[in-house]
Order: sequence, then C-alpha cells, then structure tokens
Amino acid sequence: MHTVIAIDGPAASGKSTVARQIAEHLGYTYVNTGAMYRAVTWWLLEKGVDTSDAAAVEKAVRQARVECRIEKGETIFRLDGVDPMPHVRDARVNDKVSQVASVPYVREVLVSKQQSLAGHADLVMEGRDIGTVVFPKAHSKFFIDADPVVRAKRRQGQGEADVIAKRDKIDSSRKTSPLTRAADAYLIDSSTLSIEEVVSRALEHLSKSS
Ligand code: C5P
Repeated sequence: MHTVIAIDGPAASGKSTVARQIAEHLGYTYVNTGAMYRAVTWWLLEKGVDTSDAAAVEKAVRQARVECRIEKGETIFRLDGVDPMPHVRDARVNDKVSQVASVPYVREVLVSKQQSLAGHADLVMEGRDIGTVVFPKAHSKFFIDADPVVRAKRRQGQGEADVIAKRDKIDSSRKTSPLTRAADAYLIDSSTLSIEEVVSRALEHLSKSS
C-alpha cells in the first residue's frame, strides 16, 4: 500500500485546489472522489433514472461497468466505457449528486474503487469520507473548512449555480458515511486564508509529522 494523504471538507472549502497543489508539490497522484459521485449522477440522469429512488439507483449501478485506474499520474474513470468528466459540473448534477451519494450501494462501489488506487501510487485523495471511511489509516489527514457564507460566495464567484447549503445538509446528515471530521484530522479553517496560505500550512504540518 502506498502513502495516502486524505483531505476532507464541505463544498467550496478550497479542498480541491489545495489537494491538487499538495499532490503536485509531493509528486503524488491527485484523486477527486467528488468527481466520481458526480460522474455516476450524470450517468444516471442520462439514463433517465429517478435519483430520488434509491432502489432504482442501486439497480442501475449494479448493471454498470465501473472502471477506475491511474494512468500516467492521472485518475481515469469510465462508466460503461464513457468518460463522464466533461459533464460533472452540470447544474443538474450539482442538484442531484448528494441524493445519489447517500445511496449505500453507490458508496460501496466507489469506496472500493478508491481504496484499490492505493495499490498503484502515492495519493492525495479528497472528498467527504476519505479520512473516516476510505482510508482510516491514512498517513496524514486534513479537514479543510470555511464559514458557510464565505463558501457560498466562493462558489458564486466561480459562476456556478450550486446550492451548497442544501448539499452540505444532505452530506452531513446521511446515514452512510456522513461528512464529519476524523478525530485525528488536522483542521484548517480557510475562511480568511488564501489558497497559498492553506497549502503552506498543510505542507508545514506534513513536514512536522513525517
Ligand atoms: O467534492 P464535490 O463537492 O465535487 O462533491 C460532490 C458531492 O459528492 C458531495 O456534495 C457529496 O454528496 C458527494 N461526495 C461524497 N463523498 C465523497 C466525495 C463527494 O459523498 N468522498
């Protein structure tokens, strides 16, 4: 098993940018697990599956061919041979992804794919349950948070129609792997920090703990 750095936090906390920069700095592979839940959501919507019907979601996902691997330092994710990544930021995906991510079978499939990646490369993996469920024994864990008002403004600034408060509520209250900070995760509140400041705090913590 390779080294894993787990980065969790709510929507628009800055964790994706921070995770990508830490991965670049360390020469590790960056893995965005939110993109995988988004990919499955897009694929279900394309198929006309009612995402509020957990049984229908499970049935459709059971029939899907889910591929997840690392090629040349990049995570490759395919559903029935299709690359869903160009569509994962669609507004309709933002709207339904938390519903899909709360279906236990969807989590079971994606968590096992995510875990298998650590057999192939050192990883910086970001999401909601990486330090708690996917890699509870990760080498290092971070929880990046920010004030909800700051996060909503950031997302608006990115030009996205994304009601993050609604997603946060569903993500934090679902029964299977809710968004929560692992007891041993290093907390960084990014509300008043620049990305550079968050990254340098995280790297400083990593150098102290290694
Ligand atoms: O990280 P991002 O905001 O793109 O994630 C989209 C959604 O995917 C989250 O709101 C959450 O519902 C789900 N997700 C999850 N577990 C993860 C990563 C994302 O449930 N590890």
